[in-house]
Amino acid sequence: MEKSSNLVISSPNLKYTDDYIISEYEYEETLVTRNGNDILARPFRKSMSIRTQKRVGKVGVMLVGWGGNNGSTFTAAVLANRHQLSWNTKNGTLQSNWFGSITQASTVRLGIDEKGDEVYVPMSSLLPMVNPDDLVIDGWDISPLNLAESMVRAKVIDFDLQQKLRKEMATMKPRPAIYDPDFIAANQADRATNLIRGTKYEQYLQIRADIKDFRDKHKLDKIIVLWTANTERFCEVRPGVHDTSEHLEKALRDNDPEISPSTIFALAAIDEGCGYINGSPQNTLVPGAVQRAEARGVWVAGDDFKSGQTKLKSVLVDFLVSAGLKPVSIVSYNHLGNNDGKNLSAPKQFRSKEITKSNVVDDMVESNQILYQPGEKPDHVVVIKYVPYVGDSKRAMDEYTSEILLHGTNTIVVHNTCEDSLLAVPLILDLVLLAELFTRVDFREKDGQEWQSMHAVLSTLSYLLKAPLVPAGAPVVNALFKQRAALDNLLRACLGLRPTHYMQLEHKVP
Ligand code: NAD
Repeated sequence: MEKSSNLVISSPNLKYTDDYIISEYEYEETLVTRNGNDILARPFRKSMSIRTQKRVGKVGVMLVGWGGNNGSTFTAAVLANRHQLSWNTKNGTLQSNWFGSITQASTVRLGIDEKGDEVYVPMSSLLPMVNPDDLVIDGWDISPLNLAESMVRAKVIDFDLQQKLRKEMATMKPRPAIYDPDFIAANQADRATNLIRGTKYEQYLQIRADIKDFRDKHKLDKIIVLWTANTERFCEVRPGVHDTSEHLEKALRDNDPEISPSTIFALAAIDEGCGYINGSPQNTLVPGAVQRAEARGVWVAGDDFKSGQTKLKSVLVDFLVSAGLKPVSIVSYNHLGNNDGKNLSAPKQFRSKEITKSNVVDDMVESNQILYQPGEKPDHVVVIKYVPYVGDSKRAMDEYTSEILLHGTNTIVVHNTCEDSLLAVPLILDLVLLAELFTRVDFREKDGQEWQSMHAVLSTLSYLLKAPLVPAGAPVVNALFKQRAALDNLLRACLGLRPTHYMQLEHKVP
C-alpha cells in the first residue's frame, strides 16, 4: 500500500467531524474470581467514546543530550529524510529511510480483502500523526560542540552523508545544560564546558526560559522534552524531598543535593506544559514529579529506550515461557565503545542500567504458575564493559538456559552486533510521535460527561521503553508483542475497530 493512502473507516461506530474522529467503543474484558481451586470467569463490557483531535499542529522536540550519539544521529536522520538525501558508499548509492521506527516503517493489520487475504497498512496512516519532516529540533548539552561536530565525534553516520548534512547541522548548537558531577561519571568532566551556572532553582528557571524561547521562536503548538543525555546514578528517593510536588518544589528552592539534573529538566518541562520522556534508566520521574505532571495535566513517560538486547529478551523469554519451557538462567554480556559505554563504566551509572535491564522478564515469569512457584525467578545477570575500539557498534551476547521435558536443558546463545544509536534513534522518533498523538486522544464513558485525557503516566509507550513507568498500582508489561498488541489495538479502538485476533475463521470454518 502507498504510504500516502487515505484510510476511511465506514462503520456505525465511527464519526468524522471537522475537528475529531469519534469512536463508540465496547471495551471487553473478563473478570476472574478465585475461591480456593474454583475459578469463575465472567466476561464484561464497558462502553466508551474515544475522541481523537485531527489537527496535529506544529510540534517541537527538545533533546537533553542533543550533542550525543543519539541526539546528533536523530538530527541527521530527520534532516536526511526531510531532504530525501542519498549518499555514496562502497556498496553503491543509498537512500534515507526510517527503518526501525514502528510509526514510519511498520504496518498494522487492518482486516481482510474480498478474497480473505490479510490487509496491512502503515501505522502512520491509521490516525493523524506528526510528519517527521515537520519536526522542529532543539536541545541542550553540557558539551559545546555544534551538531555537525557532534555527528563527526559520534562516528555513526556514513562519511558521504555527513558531508551532505554538515552545513545545516553546523548551524545547530546545543543550549548550555545543567551539569552535576555527582550524577554522571567522573570521566565525562572534560566535555562539560557548556553549562548553566547558579543554584538548582536558577537552573530550573533557565530551562523554562529556554523552552519558552524555542516555543516563541518557532511558534510551536506543542513541545516534547526528551532525555537522551548520559545515564545518571539513581537519586536516593527521600520522604520530604521527592515524595510530593510540594516537597520537590521546596527542595529545588533549597538547592537540595539529591535533586538530579534530569529531575530539574523534567520539572521545567512539566511546568511549561510539555510532555517529558526519560530515555535513560535513572529514576528522574520521582513521585513528586509524577504528581506535578498529573496536577498540571501533562504526561510523562520512561524509562530507558528498549532498543537491542532487552528488546530481544522480551521476545525470547515470552516465547520460552509461553511455550511451557522454563528459563532458569539468563546471562547477558555487553561491550560497547561509545560515550554511553564510557559513562556506564562507572559503577553507580552501571547500576542504573543494571536495574532497568534486570526486571524485564518478571511479568513473563509471573504469568506461568505451572513453571514458577510464587517469588521464584530465573538467575539473571547483566554485564556491561567499555571497549573503545568497537565504538557505537555494540555487542550483546546472551545465554538463555531453560529446563525442558523431564529436567533436560536447552541453551540458546545469541550474539547481536548492532550500531547502537541507529537502533535508538527510530525509538526517539516513535516516542515523540506517539506521545504527541495520545495528547490528542480523550475518553468518556457517557454522553454529556467531560472528556478525560489519558493518564499522566503514558504507559502506552511501553513498547519503546525498557523499564516502563506505569500509573501507581498498574501492572508492568514487558513482553514485546503484548506491548505491541496493546498499542495496535488502542489505535484501532480510536477508529472503532475491534482488537486484532488473528483467528481467520473465514478460512477454518466451512
Ligand atoms: P552519549 O554519551 O553519546 O550522549 C549523551 C550526551 O549527553 C552527551 O553529549 C553528553 O555531553 C550529554 N550530557 C550529559 N549530561 C548532560 C546534562 N545534564 N544535560 C545535557 N546534556 C548532558 O550517549 P548516547 O549513546 O547518545 O545515549 C544517550 C542515552 O540514551 C544514554 O543514557 C544511554 O544509556 C541511553 N540509551 C541508549 C540506547 C542506545 O543507544 N541504543 C538504548 C537505551 C538507552
